[in-house]
Amino acid sequence: MMATVLATPPGFRSLSEPIAHDAPRAFVFRGAELLVRESDLALPDPAVLKALGLEPSQVFPVGLFDKEYCSAAWIAKDREAPAGYVFRPLRSFFGRFDEGLLSVAGRAFQIADWARNHRFCGACGKPMAPVAGERAMRCECGHVAYPRIAPAMMVLVKKGAAILLARNVIVPPGGRMSALAGFLEPGESVEDAIHREVHEEVGLFVKDLRYFASQSWPFPGSLMIAFTAEYAGGEIRCDPAEIAEAHWFGPGDKLPDLPPPQSISRALIEANKP
Ligand SMILES: [Zn+2]
Repeated sequence: MMATVLATPPGFRSLSEPIAHDAPRAFVFRGAELLVRESDLALPDPAVLKALGLEPSQVFPVGLFDKEYCSAAWIAKDREAPAGYVFRPLRSFFGRFDEGLLSVAGRAFQIADWARNHRFCGACGKPMAPVAGERAMRCECGHVAYPRIAPAMMVLVKKGAAILLARNVIVPPGGRMSALAGFLEPGESVEDAIHREVHEEVGLFVKDLRYFASQSWPFPGSLMIAFTAEYAGGEIRCDPAEIAEAHWFGPGDKLPDLPPPQSISRALIEANKP
């Protein structure tokens, strides 16, 4: 089985309290864009960080990575990058950052994004403040907000040696096809969501669900939980709101365009190729 890319890398320890460090690694986000030096994609050095003038309320601890302290910060959307630096979409670092750094960057983004979106209480509208020793924001009204992680299931349906691949309606004809996926609804188990989504999206019934792997997917805060399942009945009938086409691919069939190698969907397909 392929290792999933976005997870806790070796040598990483999460921290919910900041610590003093001479040369912290700072992940500064403007929306979903990360600030890096244009020439070599290095993270900003201390002088650049100082020049940005970040407020303490914009900077949050992430953890220790290879014994270096990592922090996450958000910056207003109208800010320009300092000279020699650029803001680049987090997604653009796939294949350019090594897997460990990419995982920490994904984690930092989710923390920065959560902090930016929870400056004010969702219950009463007053300012929120970080809770000491916890990854949480609290309001004086008692409302506490933790980073939001939205579980999503992914399932590769198998029928004998064949696998079911589908093209989402947002992908143009001839474009990428993948396993089925969808977010969990409140009250569902992952297994419930698989049965529901498979039936809603392609009209099939499945059985023999088998866990494959999970992967953090910080766009913006998902946890992809991947399974395989065996076909148990029904005819393919695509939900036109979500799925443009879905087909079985068996031994000898030419596979369509697949998701990128760093994704759990690709790992799931590669591990079960006909
Ligand atoms: Zn409140």
